[in-house]
Amino acid sequence: MSNRTMAAGNWKMNTTPAEGKALAEGVIANAGTPATKVVFGAPAIQLMQIKEITAQHEGYYVAAQNMHHEDKGAYTGELSAAMLAAAGIDYVILGHSERRDYFGEDDDLINTKIIKALAAGILPIYCCGEKLDIREAGNHEMIVGKQIEQALFCLEPEQMEKVVIAYEPVWAIGTGVTASPQQAQDMHQFIRTQIANQFGEGIANNTTILYGGSVKPANAEELFGMPDVDGGLVGGASLSAENFVPIIKAL
Ligand code: PEP
Repeated sequence: MSNRTMAAGNWKMNTTPAEGKALAEGVIANAGTPATKVVFGAPAIQLMQIKEITAQHEGYYVAAQNMHHEDKGAYTGELSAAMLAAAGIDYVILGHSERRDYFGEDDDLINTKIIKALAAGILPIYCCGEKLDIREAGNHEMIVGKQIEQALFCLEPEQMEKVVIAYEPVWAIGTGVTASPQQAQDMHQFIRTQIANQFGEGIANNTTILYGGSVKPANAEELFGMPDVDGGLVGGASLSAENFVPIIKAL
């Protein structure tokens, strides 16, 4: 499982360039050479700066938090896959629930973005997950299954093997409520089975499936101890080395 593991921080719209630099350097200084891949999901204005830092340290990578699906043109405020690739950006987080909720992104659009990112050589971190009412109605596997089908099933196997999946139940993001380790494991196992059915066991067993939703130092070890939980996509707790380093070390 170790080659599947990853601790990815999603800084969202937090940190100035000076704060982001101090954060990345603080994590690297305290975590040392990690036993897992560590990814900093930095604001767009900091991507090149964080790339410069991570490039000097084995195991550390940088992710954009979004990307436009067109190649170029009149899309004020947007960044293309080619721009990110030219800047050496390693990963891009796509389909985060905040992008879905506040910017109307759906799985068809996210699928287009995934294909563009892959074509440019950027590795997508694809986010999926159900809202609270869906979980309460017991429809979470159906909804997440549909998201995955729409966003990923039309990929070629050689594309799919480059995709990282992040299961993020929306009710657990930024709420302080975490899925129980068993809830996370059940969904991760379901997702891996869906990937196996579509792409085969080999690809499914190599796919990194992260859990996201109020991961903290206090719960990371138990969550990451589940067989199909390969690490975390971490929001709030990735904003300080004090919290993020123990999460990295839990892997
Ligand atoms: C996220 O935004 O991807 C996330 C999981 O946030 P938090 O860890 O703060 O719940």
